[in-house]
Amino acid sequence: MQLSPFTDIGLRTIMRLAVNDETDSRVTTKLIARQVGASERYVAKAVSRLVELGLVRAHRGRSGGLVITPAGRVASAGWLIRELEGDREVVACTEPHPCPMVGACRLRRILADAKKAFYTELDRYSIEDLVTSPTAELLRLLAHAPVSVSNEMEEVS
Ligand code: SF4
Repeated sequence: MQLSPFTDIGLRTIMRLAVNDETDSRVTTKLIARQVGASERYVAKAVSRLVELGLVRAHRGRSGGLVITPAGRVASAGWLIRELEGDREVVACTEPHPCPMVGACRLRRILADAKKAFYTELDRYSIEDLVTSPTAELLRLLAHAPVSVSNEMEEVS
């Protein structure tokens, strides 16, 4: 099961914010984009959804920026991924090309169970759990490194 680029960038963004102190609001969308190798446009979209979900707070003004909220730290990875992905089926059985087996397909049921198991595993972890060692060290390194991370997601549209 492959996550959408939107979900992936949302996760990169919240993981990056999770290694910051709650009082440090100087992290901007632009900075995150450069640090996690994503386009600013994609990070901005993800940030607005994370703000909507109450996981990130945006401070406006010259010294403004983004901070993860306490709810963002303890949110379950499974819950967040469900929110970002939406209720998509693993296989599009009915749209845009309806499959003739849809009425009696064992595979469809198995895939639905597999999807459930996928999320059940992710539900075991909070966002904070995702940024324990060695990820935390790497993210801190990126946070303090000069801007040179390649924007490999720039092409995704
Ligand atoms: S074979 Fe089954 S899972 Fe695949 S598209 Fe058809 S109904 Fe869906």
